[in-house]
Amino acid sequence: MIEITDASSAHPYNHIRADKPNFIIGELFIMAYVITDACIKDAICVDVCPTDCIHPKQDEPGFQEATQLFVDPAECIDCGACVPVCTSDSILAVDDVPEEKKAFIERNAAHFKN
Ligand code: SF4
Repeated sequence: MIEITDASSAHPYNHIRADKPNFIIGELFIMAYVITDACIKDAICVDVCPTDCIHPKQDEPGFQEATQLFVDPAECIDCGACVPVCTSDSILAVDDVPEEKKAFIERNAAHFKN
């Protein structure tokens, strides 16, 4: 059983996200948006993200090997700009991630650990 803790006072962007505070699973921040395995890595979302929090980029190490792109939970500001440009409908608000895709919440966060 995963314990989810309200971390609204701990996240640097909560002053502009008061309606949807972030949460922590273990030591991982859970971001507002999550990329799932439907991602085809066309990277259009990378170009519209205002905080540069979607990786790996096409010119970064690991892009070819990556099975999908990921959202950095520490940098996502919940703006939603990535959603309408996604051609594979692979980006979901964390609240909308279906049960069978919930593993991708942690997988996105885990990509940015270390
Ligand atoms: Fe970037 Fe905004 Fe999408 Fe977060 S919601 S990944 S900040 S474009």
